[in-house]
Amino acid sequence: MKWIDYENAKTVDEAIKILSQSGGKARPMAGGTDLIVQLRVKDPRVDADIVVNIKDIPELNELSYSAEKGLTIGAAVPCYKIYNDDNVINHYPALIDSASLIGGTQIQGRASLGGNLCNAAPSGDSIPNLVAHNGVATLAGPNGTREVAVEDICTGPRQTCIEKDEILVSINLPNPGEGFGANYIRFIPRNEMDIAVVGAGVSVNIASGKFTAAKVSLASVAPTPISVPDAISALVGQSVGEGPIQNAANAAKAAAKPISDMRGTIEYRKHLCEVLTRRALNTAVDRAQGGK
Ligand SMILES: Cc1cc2nc3c(=O)[nH]c(=O)nc-3n(C[C@H](O)[C@H](O)[C@H](O)COP(=O)(O)OP(=O)(O)OC[C@H]3O[C@@H](n4cnc5c(N)ncnc54)[C@H](O)[C@@H]3O)c2cc1C
Repeated sequence: MKWIDYENAKTVDEAIKILSQSGGKARPMAGGTDLIVQLRVKDPRVDADIVVNIKDIPELNELSYSAEKGLTIGAAVPCYKIYNDDNVINHYPALIDSASLIGGTQIQGRASLGGNLCNAAPSGDSIPNLVAHNGVATLAGPNGTREVAVEDICTGPRQTCIEKDEILVSINLPNPGEGFGANYIRFIPRNEMDIAVVGAGVSVNIASGKFTAAKVSLASVAPTPISVPDAISALVGQSVGEGPIQNAANAAKAAAKPISDMRGTIEYRKHLCEVLTRRALNTAVDRAQGGK
């Protein structure tokens, strides 16, 4: 059995120092619900000599909202705190779609959206939703901090643009404003605790009966969660109605580049893209117009 050291970082600087001095052999740990499993099965993509606990760092536990800044979600905030938070419930209810379906109750007590993003699974259930909310990640490293749009973080399966001596500090979701609605849904063959065969995260802004902005992002249909610009073009500027929604759903189906595996064929997954995008958009429209 391999020996792995454990360090408990209390500050962002301390975490970065440990990561920098490890020569790429240290891994940050938030909830550990991915990392510990991967280390136990000796996943070759997650070789680590040191695990750095980042859950005690104050900035990574921030969960705050202001009308000006929007929602700041510290990278280690567990799912249960997110779906119980009044600001999330009042201003970002669609975030609960993801936070409440990752794993089960026990997993949600530890698992963070930051860890879900940094793990960069093509099926990560929070990623399309964070993209739909125009999320921006704040990364900290030896040379200071930088901001990266969530949709640019994942570069391949379990690969991100985050350097080995950087950590994700927080994710900011700008204030969505009036007329905003979003939704994340996934298809799994069981009722719960499974990996998305396809997931669809969408958002719309509606003013005077027209789509003024939109986002469509899909999970499990490419090496990374993807955005669908053609679906956005199909919606923005159009009057709210079935036609543009169907066109956007068709664009999602066309943009998907899935593989066939034990959970679904290419054809099945592409079909799901159309169905889930259409359903998610209908719910997002409903929410934008005041529905729950
Ligand atoms: C039983 C079970 C069910 C699950 N169900 C689901 C599900 O339905 N949907 C789903 O999407 N996932 C699911 N997962 C996977 C996992 O729970 C989620 O991906 C979770 O959000 C990971 O968060 P975490 O805080 O535990 O991450 P961790 O395990 O702590 O970290 C995950 C990865 O991100 C890195 N990392 C973590 N935080 C940072 C940071 N701040 N900066 C840089 N790198 C960082 C770690 O080094 C590691 O590589 C499940 C896992 C289990 C065990």
